[in-house]
Amino acid sequence: MSDTLFADASKRLEKALKYVSISEDAIEHLKFPKASLAVSIPVRMDDGSLKIFQGYRVRYDDTRGPTKGGVRYHPNVSMDEVQSLAFWMTFKCAVLNLPFGGAKGGITLNPKALSRMELERLSRGYVNAIADFIGPDIDIPAPDVYTNPMIMGWMMDQYSIITRKVTPGVVTGKPISIGGSLGRDTATAMGAFFVIENIMSKIDRSPPETTVAVQGFGNAGAVIADLLSKAGYKVVAVSDSQGAVYAKKGLDIPSIRQYKLSSRGMKAVYCEDTVCNIVEHESISNEELLTLDVDILVPAALENQITEANVNNIKARYIFEVANGPITSVADAILEQRGISVFPDILVNAGGVTVSYFEWVQNRSGFYWTLEEVNQRLRQKMVEETNQIWGIAQELSISMRTAAYVHALNRLGEAISAKGTRDYYVNGKVSVP
Ligand code: GLU
Repeated sequence: MSDTLFADASKRLEKALKYVSISEDAIEHLKFPKASLAVSIPVRMDDGSLKIFQGYRVRYDDTRGPTKGGVRYHPNVSMDEVQSLAFWMTFKCAVLNLPFGGAKGGITLNPKALSRMELERLSRGYVNAIADFIGPDIDIPAPDVYTNPMIMGWMMDQYSIITRKVTPGVVTGKPISIGGSLGRDTATAMGAFFVIENIMSKIDRSPPETTVAVQGFGNAGAVIADLLSKAGYKVVAVSDSQGAVYAKKGLDIPSIRQYKLSSRGMKAVYCEDTVCNIVEHESISNEELLTLDVDILVPAALENQITEANVNNIKARYIFEVANGPITSVADAILEQRGISVFPDILVNAGGVTVSYFEWVQNRSGFYWTLEEVNQRLRQKMVEETNQIWGIAQELSISMRTAAYVHALNRLGEAISAKGTRDYYVNGKVSVP
């Protein structure tokens, strides 16, 4: 039987433990979520019927601060998935040195099948069900797959209604008009872009000689494709859940975005004003996109995309994980043996939660930053932590993923120990340092 997602996620931790000297208590502590909540959310549908949806919220660890993490609306959402994502958030926040622990939430549904009013009732119902579990000093939700600023606005408003206090800091990724931060919408992609630029300069590769394929054309995928192509990288393939387009000469990403917005489809197009011309391209599957012979592969969709089944067909030289958990631990080991460098999710996609942190800080201080300030602080954090993880990987001759876990574990271990471990007690008595 294959592992659960959580069992597979935990293997990354086990691998990194060899390279850190943290207390046994800290290790024990990190093996289990702090609290998990499963809720049933009744929603009055537009036709008058009542439907019950299953929702979850897991707070994995709050040693370093209130827990933080997105809410996902997707048919595959389960407690196992939410717990794994909360585990990753714990390490992601530690990698970026944010004063947060990790959490995640989700509702099992096909969001495209609901009307906007049904979505609003569902989102408010979710907050009604988890209100005691969240708060600006407890646990702070944010957007994730198929959730957006509008949904975050409803959630913040509902929490404020329940508590009878306007509480912008309870949710991040809100619309700007009600306390959102400038730059939060593009933050995941922007953070990944800073990591890619930093790594490419370390290995002395110039953008025009670097081909890129991006899997996923949502908020993260479409923006990273755009940023990379504007910086001169040759983005040869992009995909959404329906399929992919490939053009050897490179794609015009802004026009594909425009086409997708206007037609909900994807084609390699070139648009001028409202007129779009189809450019020479091949339509390929998502699976084919993953195995293209490119320099950089960017999985920016869902987890478990590169597995034992397709790992031997991967031809990219570098993989930057913009999605959470796109590579299984078995596939990861094979990629490492094959000399393919993987840059892990807990670093590469951490720009989102980093600007969420900036949003929370702005909400608490009531003083708002310019877009330049947000992006400049984001760049500084992403570059600083990438350099540190790069240094650990070089020093210990380990992968960037294991190095990122080592980096996070050192911070988490120190925080857990600061609250007291077995090392304080000798023969049942408190040892005075
Ligand atoms: N959902 C995003 C992530 O997986 C952002 C979380 C947040 O901003 O709290 O990192």
